Amino acid sequence: MADALEIAQRYMEEGRPRQIVTADSSMLVMAAEDEELKDLINASDLVVPDSTGVVWAARRSGSPVPERVTGVDLMEALCRLGAEHGWTAYFLGAAPGVAEEAARRLEARYPGFKVTGLHHGFLEPGDTEKIEGEILSLQPHLLFVAMGIPRQEKWIRARMERLNVPISMGVGGSFDCHSGQVKRAPVLYQKLWIEWLYRLITNPSKYKKVALLPRFALMVLRSKKG
Ligand code: UDP
Repeated sequence: MADALEIAQRYMEEGRPRQIVTADSSMLVMAAEDEELKDLINASDLVVPDSTGVVWAARRSGSPVPERVTGVDLMEALCRLGAEHGWTAYFLGAAPGVAEEAARRLEARYPGFKVTGLHHGFLEPGDTEKIEGEILSLQPHLLFVAMGIPRQEKWIRARMERLNVPISMGVGGSFDCHSGQVKRAPVLYQKLWIEWLYRLITNPSKYKKVALLPRFALMVLRSKKG
């Protein structure tokens, strides 16, 4: 996390548009079958290990990472850093009202951090042009997109050069967490590597994502050790 924040700060100083990808196990399984997603991950500026599975895979492949950095934590840490530096953000995604509540809570927790624009993530024809226009005129420092993997990553990649936001990041269910709608798995579940079980119990519609985990494990076990 410390490294990621140092890198993010440098990106902000340089000002060129960058994409941070928060890779969890489901994303890497999808990337094995989705060339566009795979290329996008490889071309992104920074990839952080969002899940314990990815931390395990990195260690097994001989490129260990110091720790897990979840999207929801990195997003919050960037808001905290933003408060110190006067950064602004645009929140795109989640159901109507959720981005507003997440923004309200994060602005209250980190005075000085401002969400200058937001839009829900269930886009109708014409919404994209409107959102692009808003981002271009607001020129935020940060763009968080919460529309699910891989839609959010592809949305960013397709227009990041034009939108020219220094840091854009897909954040999945983070607005749901920061708005208080969804609870994160208790630390014990995280430590025991059974966060997926908590997700499944609290939100059975997550079964599709959880079902990718055995495939991820096989993928990693079959790949060459570093
Ligand atoms: N979402 C959205 N537009 C869509 C589909 C989903 O804004 O067309 C939102 C959804 O409301 C949720 C987020 O995207 O807030 C996806 O969260 P999820 O936990 O499923 O993300 P992932 O597991 O892909 O990280």
